[in-house]
Amino acid sequence: MLNKLLEYQKVDSKLVKIEKDLENSDCKGTVNGMVRLVREAQNHLIHIEKTAGDLIAEYKRLVEVYEKEKKCVAELKDKEIKEMNAFELREENNSVAKQISDVIGLKKSITALSKKIIQKLNEFEKTRAQGVESKKKYDDSIAKYNEFASKQNDNIRKVKQELFELEKGIDPVYIDKYKKMRDEHKYPILVPLINNSCGICAVQVPNARLDILKKNHMIECENCHRIIYLPE
Ligand SMILES: [Zn+2]
Repeated sequence: MLNKLLEYQKVDSKLVKIEKDLENSDCKGTVNGMVRLVREAQNHLIHIEKTAGDLIAEYKRLVEVYEKEKKCVAELKDKEIKEMNAFELREENNSVAKQISDVIGLKKSITALSKKIIQKLNEFEKTRAQGVESKKKYDDSIAKYNEFASKQNDNIRKVKQELFELEKGIDPVYIDKYKKMRDEHKYPILVPLINNSCGICAVQVPNARLDILKKNHMIECENCHRIIYLPE
């Protein structure tokens, strides 16, 4: 029984290795990294789009004010000035000068804002291109990972078939215990006795139980519940 169980565990070690490989697969890491990159690019785009929207609204508002001011200046110039006295003329002159300076200021603000908008739009295009690039890399990684996983799945099927055949010659009580511990990720389940202790958790086996071990070839560790066996 012990030899069959040890053989079973040896075959199972192939399965443990495949599972570990899948878990640590670089492809999987790359895919996770790419998912993060794409998500970041998306968030960035949303943010830029909102900022650009705000800038364009501000731009429109400034242009409106600018047009209004320009119209006011034009109207002022057209006013009948013949009837004005010297004081009124001076007042009118000051008012026109102020309005013109306001208009020039507005024009400057609009130009600066236009530059900012173009900058944001460029940033948007760049981020969008980066997002597309990340998405492409992500698709490639996914494809590679799926290929890797499918190959591993073939291997898993083969090992499981081997285990299934071995199972037929082993007491179901042991197989059930083995599988239960395996589900709890406690591999290896069969461990040799080392210095009269459990080969994994190192808890000492009392003398009385050592006698049982010698007689039955196997006992359960009282601490970690693995199956302790006597090495050859
Ligand atoms: Zn133990």
